[in-house]
Amino acid sequence: MPKTAIIIGAGPAGLTAAYELLTKTDIKPIIYESSADIGGISKTLNYKGNRIDIGGHRFFSKSDRIIEWWQNILPLEAVPPKPGPDPEREDKLMLMRKRLSRIFFLRKFFAYPVSLSLETLSNLGIARAVNFFLSYIKVRLMPIREEKSLEDFFVNRFGKELYGTFFKDYTEKVWGLPCSKIKAEWGEQRVKGLSIAKTIYHAFKKMLIKRSPLDQKNIETSLIEYFLYPKFGPGQMWEEAAKIIKEKGGEIHLNHHVVGLDLQKNEITEAEIKVLNSNEIKVQKADYFFSTMPIKELIPALGENAPGGVKRVAQGLMYRDFITVGLLLKKLKIKNDTKIKTVNDFIPDNWIYIQERDVKVCRVQIFNNWSPYLVKEKDKVWIGLEYVCSSEDEIWGKTDKEVSEFAIGELLKIGFIEKEDIIDWAVIRMEKVYPTYSGAYEEFETVKNFCDRIENLFLIGRNGMHRYNNQDHSMLTAMVAVENIINNLKSKKNIWEVNIEKSYHESK
Ligand SMILES: Cc1cc2nc3c(=O)[nH]c(=O)nc-3n(C[C@H](O)[C@H](O)[C@H](O)COP(=O)(O)OP(=O)(O)OC[C@H]3O[C@@H](n4cnc5c(N)ncnc54)[C@H](O)[C@@H]3O)c2cc1C
Repeated sequence: MPKTAIIIGAGPAGLTAAYELLTKTDIKPIIYESSADIGGISKTLNYKGNRIDIGGHRFFSKSDRIIEWWQNILPLEAVPPKPGPDPEREDKLMLMRKRLSRIFFLRKFFAYPVSLSLETLSNLGIARAVNFFLSYIKVRLMPIREEKSLEDFFVNRFGKELYGTFFKDYTEKVWGLPCSKIKAEWGEQRVKGLSIAKTIYHAFKKMLIKRSPLDQKNIETSLIEYFLYPKFGPGQMWEEAAKIIKEKGGEIHLNHHVVGLDLQKNEITEAEIKVLNSNEIKVQKADYFFSTMPIKELIPALGENAPGGVKRVAQGLMYRDFITVGLLLKKLKIKNDTKIKTVNDFIPDNWIYIQERDVKVCRVQIFNNWSPYLVKEKDKVWIGLEYVCSSEDEIWGKTDKEVSEFAIGELLKIGFIEKEDIIDWAVIRMEKVYPTYSGAYEEFETVKNFCDRIENLFLIGRNGMHRYNNQDHSMLTAMVAVENIINNLKSKKNIWEVNIEKSYHESK
């Protein structure tokens, strides 16, 4: 009998696990996906021909293996395009995009990451600039010895004034907590080695060394300037991967929600799956189980055999939820203030961080600048307003119409749009998009150690590991898990080492 693996979730991690099993082993993958879509958080939704990328997904990685994997599925477009008619092939491509994302603060644009340019200084005014400099020097001379919170982490790298102006409000909007209450570990994961010194070093190096846009290995994540992007958004990558998985004999079941896992001693024997929109419950046996579902939901699914302490910690894990408001416009009110030449003098940013304190919107995505193919009519502007929130917040409880009115009101307030230019809107809600390092996370090892002892269970991906993993990290955890099965390696340590900087670079 050929062996089988149940994979919970058809996001990047689950699909990669299935692909790797099919191409490297004889194990048959069976994916169960709760929603009606492929791609998890990295899916692309189509609203009347206009595509929404939930979060704006850059495809970049420090791992050559991941870049090759992506290009195997969607090759990089040839510049100039290759001659010859092959319309379908021409659509299955990745574009090379140059990143531009700026901060909007004091109703002005600032470079991101904040650069010490003349423009920044003139936007800030001389008094603020001097304050930044003095507070930075102060922290260099007297750093906070023990970084207990994210606030300490930022202050040590940027000085108190710069932190207060450019990092505090945005970070607190995203996480819904004061930075002083967020663990410093978040900074290590997200901002990693970014600091003023690194930013300046990077700027000099860029002037001296010409590198391939795909070679981003030794660049801090926040400074990466080029990224790949599927022509029709990130979901295109995952829909293509799903097609290949099915062609190779894998199964993908949408609208199938895994509700139970039968744990016997150190092994799971079968999964119980609820078929949504019906009363049917399926039971499926398997040899291996890969989980990308939130750990908070996985542990109760293991039933009575999960110890009380593990259940308590899992129950206390916290997440942030997400609303994107898509807005279709005739034009934007704000004009291109850069030297970059654009079509119709359109602002060139991929996305803009909204640091303004008088609005709740965190970021504005300009989908036209991610890929013009996301937009149905090329002369229209298609943007996304992002709200990071909790499903208990007031905004989540509003109707879609109320959310859209609220979002439009905010953009009018900060001067991005004019009311008469609005053509249409769409509201998309996604739960648990950010696993947070707060709540019971301090005791996370209890859950991790318990799950690691279940021999045929592999926690992979973002919510699957309760870790701030990007697509490439999520994919690598799946790849390492499959390799462990091939090599009969019992320890799960190497899966947890992915996305701990240095240890996952293949080019060490
Ligand atoms: C705002 C934002 C911006 C981002 N930007 C980037 C970026 O620029 N670049 C990048 O590489 N990454 C980015 N990411 C991260 C990227 O979205 C994730 O790394 C990736 O989607 C995680 O893949 P995954 O398969 O682990 O999980 P997910 O994408 O969350 O997929 C998990 C799937 O499991 C399903 N599921 C859950 N429970 C069950 C169940 N019980 N039964 C069956 N199915 C279930 C869910 O429906 C979901 O489809 C961003 C994320 C966010 C939120």
